[in-house]
Amino acid sequence: MALHEAMLYERLEKNKVNCHVCARRCQINDGGVGFCLVRKNEGGRLYSLNYGKAVSAAVDPIEKKPLFHFNPGASVMSVAAVGCNFRCQFCDNWMISQEKNIVGNDFPPEKVVKATMDNACQGIGYTYTEPTIFFEYAYDTSKLARQVGFFNTFVTNGYMTPESVKAIAPYLDAATVDFKGGADPEFYRVFSAVPSVAPIFEALKELRRNDVHIEITNLVVPKSGDSLERIRDLAVWVRESIGRDTPFHLLRFHPDYKVSIPSTPVETLEKAFMVAKEVGLEFVYIGNVPNHPSENTYCPGCNELLIKRFNFAITRWNLTRDMRCPVCGRDIPIRGKLNPSGHSYPYALF
Ligand code: SF4
Repeated sequence: MALHEAMLYERLEKNKVNCHVCARRCQINDGGVGFCLVRKNEGGRLYSLNYGKAVSAAVDPIEKKPLFHFNPGASVMSVAAVGCNFRCQFCDNWMISQEKNIVGNDFPPEKVVKATMDNACQGIGYTYTEPTIFFEYAYDTSKLARQVGFFNTFVTNGYMTPESVKAIAPYLDAATVDFKGGADPEFYRVFSAVPSVAPIFEALKELRRNDVHIEITNLVVPKSGDSLERIRDLAVWVRESIGRDTPFHLLRFHPDYKVSIPSTPVETLEKAFMVAKEVGLEFVYIGNVPNHPSENTYCPGCNELLIKRFNFAITRWNLTRDMRCPVCGRDIPIRGKLNPSGHSYPYALF
């Protein structure tokens, strides 16, 4: 496939370029690549090297993203290209996110949309690696997908610039923004090679201003990233800046890649859950602990069980047609509708 010129970059003197897609804002010399290794300056123009090259494609239930309050039960065509702008030492997709070569299958936007149709999915998820670093591929696919009525979702580390959020927002319906270690700047610096967490909060505010549905996750890592104070601060920020009805998922860490410590104790997650509830967040979930009662949705008004889940499947639906609690009538913020595919299980195309 021919090189694809990048979006959102600036040409500088001496054939240098400045990339404005993610918050690293790399300045790249002629012939060089950015921190993500997938954007190259050739003769003063910036090119996306991974455009249309999917390293992974699979059908997932939307709950796997996780998105619990957006088109529940939907099947999502999930695509990824190689590369990342983080270097997380615990990444569970490190084989593709930290891949140094441009590998993948020829899977241009039209093919992604066709596969979405052929597999009876309701939308597309740009996921597994960081969608910001395959921005042009995600952008073109999103535009096409929207034309035929599919929704688009990002699973992102949130390290986007306001410019990239504004560019994708007209086609982006929902985003799962993943924090790690309670957004502790030191944790990000040591474990992910990220110099500042501030851009993530700015990107979230921009997503909110653009009316993109947002769900937040926070990976609770034993000892180095399980501070309840940090989790409290993050929950307060979410309440104040995004809204108390923002779904907030506390995810269990499992050892992977370079980090071999044991998984997060369930009691630690339950303490974090209580902290987020005390702060006033209305929809707090515990993730990666199948069959835990906190993977269900309860009414914040009367505590009625509204949606029962097991792993990624909805096993009981107890909301009215207009998304209200059947007992107290409270309006439950769920965008879209319950999808008949309901109990789909993940399967890979490649
Ligand atoms: S997308 Fe890549 S090249 Fe652009 S700023 Fe981020 S890390 Fe640098």
